Amino acid sequence: MDIMTTAPAIRIERAEKRYGGAAGFVAVSDVSLTVAPGSIHGLLGPNGAGKTTTLKMLLGLVRPSGGTFEILGEAAGPGVRARVGFLPEQPYFSPLLTAAEVLMLHGRLSGMIPSEVSSRTGELLARVGLEGREKTRLEKYSRGMLQRVGIAQALIASPDVVVFDEPASGLDPMGQRDVRNLMIALAGEGTTVLLSSHQLSEVEAICDEVTILNRGRVVAEGSIDDLLNVAGRTSVRARGTAPALPADVQSLMEDVAVSGGVWVFSVPDSAVRAVIDILDDNGWAIESVVPKRQSLEDYFGRMLEEPVHSTGAQVMSR
Ligand code: ADP
Repeated sequence: MDIMTTAPAIRIERAEKRYGGAAGFVAVSDVSLTVAPGSIHGLLGPNGAGKTTTLKMLLGLVRPSGGTFEILGEAAGPGVRARVGFLPEQPYFSPLLTAAEVLMLHGRLSGMIPSEVSSRTGELLARVGLEGREKTRLEKYSRGMLQRVGIAQALIASPDVVVFDEPASGLDPMGQRDVRNLMIALAGEGTTVLLSSHQLSEVEAICDEVTILNRGRVVAEGSIDDLLNVAGRTSVRARGTAPALPADVQSLMEDVAVSGGVWVFSVPDSAVRAVIDILDDNGWAIESVVPKRQSLEDYFGRMLEEPVHSTGAQVMSR
């Protein structure tokens, strides 16, 4: 989706939060971000970076010290709140309620009529992996199951925008995969997803764009490709039975990893054609040729080692 020509689903401009009055602690400073409709945007950063505070200011749950907050083109407030679903970082529900009762409560709070909530409940619980658990009291649920109820609660009113604070929290790897797939499916249906995470692998796999926060400020933003692709180098993956790659390739390759006859290495873009020909001529099978990427973990680690500066944001290039 072209972010330049489509009105953003979420716009945060110069958000500020100072806890404890004018002389208090600055938790968020000069944070701006826009999220295109139907896209998945990751708000990334270590604990204490200001992610939750930013999300809660957008949702009207924390009073901003400054900044502009818009959802679906309207000033964020009660008017649009019904079109937004929210999964808090630590959702709390009474353990005596059943999943169906939680959804009824939250559906009613969003202005739905009881029959609407009832007709959506079974399908929604199935969608978050809680099929047939409508009548189980939450006291019998595991941490991961409660997180799934939290996600269902956020989706009960079929929101156009969903805000997930650490959605993978408490979930095992299978559960995390389910949530990733759910977010991809939601975006595919046109729902806009803003999620916060310190779990970089989660974000790397699904987000169209990310904003990285550290100590309350934006330290980087942009598309994952722009942030992570290593300019000028291509990653090649080749399989063969020879104990070493041909000498002409060895002289060009860097970042070499080898396991069970599979070699992964990078070469300059200009040498890709020649390298592939050499490998081919020597009986190697080429498994993939892709732009070289650093992992978000590496990028993030490097980013956070650098001093925080107010104009550290990269210009979005899409
Ligand atoms: P994150 O979600 O990235 O972990 P938070 O937004 O929760 O970060 O917190 C940002 C900073 O603001 C932290 O240093 C935190 O201790 C502080 N903070 C959060 N809530 C409050 C509060 N109610 N009062 C005072 N300080 C707070």
